[in-house]
Amino acid sequence: MTNFRRFGQAVVLAILLLGLNGWAQSVAEPKMTTDPKIAAALREVSAERIQSNIDKLVSFGTRLTLSAQDPASIAAGHGIGAAREWIKAQFEEYSKACGGCLEVKTDSFVEQPADRIPKPTEITNVYAVLKGSDPGNAKRIVLVTGHYDSRNSDTLDVNGDAPGANDDGSGTAVSLECARVLSKLRFPRTIVFLTVAGEEQGLYGSKHFAKMVKDDGWDLEAVLNNDIVGGDKSAEQDHSVVRVFSEGVPVAATEQDIKKIRALGGESDSGSRELARYIADVGGTYDAGVTPMLIFRLDRYLRGGDHYSFNQQGFSAVRMTEFREDFHHQHQNVRMENGIQYGDLPKFVDFDYVARVARLNAATLASLAAAPAPPENLHLLTKDLENDSTLTWDASPGGLASGYEVMWRATTSPQWEHVENVGNVMRATMKMSKDNVIFAVRAVDGAGHRSLPVVPTPQR
Ligand SMILES: [Zn+2]
Repeated sequence: MTNFRRFGQAVVLAILLLGLNGWAQSVAEPKMTTDPKIAAALREVSAERIQSNIDKLVSFGTRLTLSAQDPASIAAGHGIGAAREWIKAQFEEYSKACGGCLEVKTDSFVEQPADRIPKPTEITNVYAVLKGSDPGNAKRIVLVTGHYDSRNSDTLDVNGDAPGANDDGSGTAVSLECARVLSKLRFPRTIVFLTVAGEEQGLYGSKHFAKMVKDDGWDLEAVLNNDIVGGDKSAEQDHSVVRVFSEGVPVAATEQDIKKIRALGGESDSGSRELARYIADVGGTYDAGVTPMLIFRLDRYLRGGDHYSFNQQGFSAVRMTEFREDFHHQHQNVRMENGIQYGDLPKFVDFDYVARVARLNAATLASLAAAPAPPENLHLLTKDLENDSTLTWDASPGGLASGYEVMWRATTSPQWEHVENVGNVMRATMKMSKDNVIFAVRAVDGAGHRSLPVVPTPQR
């Protein structure tokens, strides 16, 4: 945290010094521009609603993927089937409020017996689609997800309480609240608000969904997975940050890709990592109330999550998780033992914190959904040995871009350090050696919405 602040102060100081030297017009910190409509939507995010949604999810007793989903249990409000129907009804209610702007869907399948699945089990993902308003851009998609299934100490206990307030009632509440507030706006691109099941049994829901997305050829640009974003109220918690985990070398990289990555020093420039950096930029642009703390690793030790299912299919996906987890409150039977309360109960969740994380998610989704597509076929020309660096690219598809920005950073730096607006061109020559920095290019529209940055491949 302190290091992040120091880094920020150093950047500000550097810009002031550059400004004094009259350089600041072309070289500046890679900031984004605040969109007042997005800022207004963020103010609509409600901690009270998030609390009542998490309380409701907990009221189903257990949401274990193997728990009841027959009509009688659904009517009695017990088990995962009841939770699923309630989530669907919430999305439908938000859709009614926006004149039917959300398409509410389910993705149901039967998982055959496998590890932690003792018998054929129907698993249902529930999602809402806010279709893009621009036909040329609506096929481009950003997605937020959380898992609505829960568990206690025993992954096969279909009856015992498994409140799952934090894991992952919090992430489910983030998907719901993002759908509610963002459905009041219109974006050129499509946003999908997803809640999956089967996570605790082995990522089954997200695996199925990510494969469907791949098979159906969705142009899915970014996935935000929120899992354990409740800000557990333990004494050592840092409520001012949320961790953002991103893979370095992509799990879906081929041998050929890995050869290139090794040769060019591309270990920290996966699509997921650029998405994480984008979230950091969004966090510095909008006042979400929580600072993204980038963690350059796929996930925590010994743990996995639904973003991995999307990474496996080659999509950019990151995981958000609170700063410090309390393992007494995860995957535990609700009980008192030696004076310690175990169990994932709502009383340990900081609902204001969940609301702040929801704001960061909503700001990221909205920024991406409003932005032009990244430029395509970005190359760094390497035909001649020279000390200048020439980049070429094809226009951002979809016609939203009005210009491009070249960004760069030292090879040792975690985040983009400099940006230069090069105008509405497809080629730029930078007066610095490609051997000493990492470049990227992003597209910008007239209102200042920025695309994800892309890094170039060499072209001889
Ligand atoms: Zn989880």
